Amino acid sequence: MTRHCNARNRSGGLCGKPARSGETRCHLHNGRPPGTPEHPNSRAARLEGRRRWLERMKAAKERGEIAKIPGGRRARGLPPLSKDPTIRKAQRMVEKMKATRDVAVPAKAWGEMSKGEKLSAAASAPRPS
Ligand SMILES: [Zn+2]
Repeated sequence: MTRHCNARNRSGGLCGKPARSGETRCHLHNGRPPGTPEHPNSRAARLEGRRRWLERMKAAKERGEIAKIPGGRRARGLPPLSKDPTIRKAQRMVEKMKATRDVAVPAKAWGEMSKGEKLSAAASAPRPS
């Protein structure tokens, strides 16, 4: 079975061309041939990128947004992220705002609340400015 290239194209989808044998990328997305040493600048950039990524992941774990590194699995109790990238971005923004503002998140989901609980939750929630 031939693998398919796992590189992302500009519209966010997978490249999908057949990968080179024994590799994960096609001829367009392949870098240096195997066995050749990585350029020092490329190596430095790769390591720096990983360092920044790890920093971000640790911060997200501290905020309780993800349960583990490196999977980046979302913490339990958080609603699933939307498949739509725009909505997903908005969800992340709301979660970030909640984390920084320290707004109390209701223990129950909106759909599970009784009418009285909904009313008290809406009354105690801060008004958007
Ligand atoms: Zn490709």
